[in-house]
Amino acid sequence: MGKTIFSKIINREIPADIVYETESILAFRDINPQAPVHILIIPKIEIPSVKELSGKEHSKLLGDMIDAANEIARKENISQSGFRLVFNCGADAGQEVYHLHLHLLGGRKMNWPPG
Ligand code: AMP
Repeated sequence: MGKTIFSKIINREIPADIVYETESILAFRDINPQAPVHILIIPKIEIPSVKELSGKEHSKLLGDMIDAANEIARKENISQSGFRLVFNCGADAGQEVYHLHLHLLGGRKMNWPPG
């Protein structure tokens, strides 16, 4: 599996605005934000996308990613007003980086359905 740009962020080979880190998870601001708060929450292990997820270990990791989202949302003061969590999976969803990532978006009113 080829290294993605997110692996380079994990390894500190390229800079990022990191807002949260644990042993298993890293979160940093999206370089092209689509909302006043736009943060990417990623596992440190290389998993290309949601469709490669299975089993208890990944379930735990996903739970940790949601915990991270909630904690960051509180810190960014968007927990009360609301926020959106998005996984893009595959070409039709517009996934660009094949290292699993959860988008945390907030700070403005969102539309539904998404584009
Ligand atoms: P997706 O389309 O779901 O694969 O989202 C990939 C996201 O990664 C996009 O929102 C990009 O703006 C973002 N992105 C790409 N490169 C970087 C980077 N070096 N630092 C922060 N965000 C990035």
